[in-house]
Amino acid sequence: MIHFVGAGSGAPDLITLRGAEYLRKADVVIYAGSLVNPELLRMTKESCTIHDSAKMTLVEVIRVMREAEKQGLTTVRLHTGDPCFYGAIREQMDLLDESAIPYDYTPGVSSLCGAASALNLEYTLPDVSQTVIITRMAGRTPVPEKESIEALATHGATMVLFLSTGMLPELSRRLISGGCAPDTPAAIVYKATWPDEEKYICTVSDLAQTAEQHHITKTALIIVGDIVTHSHYDRSKLYDPGFTTEFRMGTDKK
Ligand code: SAH
Repeated sequence: MIHFVGAGSGAPDLITLRGAEYLRKADVVIYAGSLVNPELLRMTKESCTIHDSAKMTLVEVIRVMREAEKQGLTTVRLHTGDPCFYGAIREQMDLLDESAIPYDYTPGVSSLCGAASALNLEYTLPDVSQTVIITRMAGRTPVPEKESIEALATHGATMVLFLSTGMLPELSRRLISGGCAPDTPAAIVYKATWPDEEKYICTVSDLAQTAEQHHITKTALIIVGDIVTHSHYDRSKLYDPGFTTEFRMGTDKK
């Protein structure tokens, strides 16, 4: 059995109870060494074999899984954050399907959420944005043309950008050319939830300058939108005294 497990965004105690249990029982762990906190590996038993996938190809990863399966061992494939974001899990699952190797998937705390926690942000403030666009700049991995930064920026929704910290001058230019005001609030969160986390609030126009000033070139998320400074928003209906819900009688019904 292969367990895909989200390791969380950095702090080792952010792994789920289920993920931790799988790690404790694992005979083989394949972890994404570039971003998973190695502290988590201390949970594994002494006999556990550990592989760093940062140094492996897809074929090599699957080979380790197949070998383990042949011996009836339990494997944990430990991905950073939650594997559903830029985790390259689909291709592994498809190859496992081909070999009829069973697997399951335990979610984790994505850096999407880790970064919000670093800044105490709510991405979806009433009357500001009720939508989060999760995207990235095209790098060696292309992004479909219909998802260009310019096109996405036209919505004025909250945006969270992965894998884009090395391209900030271009990101700012493209956000602005998509209609984002240059003074739109933005944030850079480096290594959210790690002990060396750093976070900076700036604007869309000075993203690159802010990152450069603090020597941030990778392992960061870029957050764009008025929710970053939350200067104007409506309070939620859910907790409005005047609002009746399934669970509470509001003054509107009295
Ligand atoms: N599956 C992961 C994302 C993997 S892609 C998740 O859910 O978080 C790798 C990118 O994620 C990095 O380039 C960076 O943009 C972002 N990232 C991962 N961990 C991060 C962290 N702790 N703080 C800020 N950004 C992080």
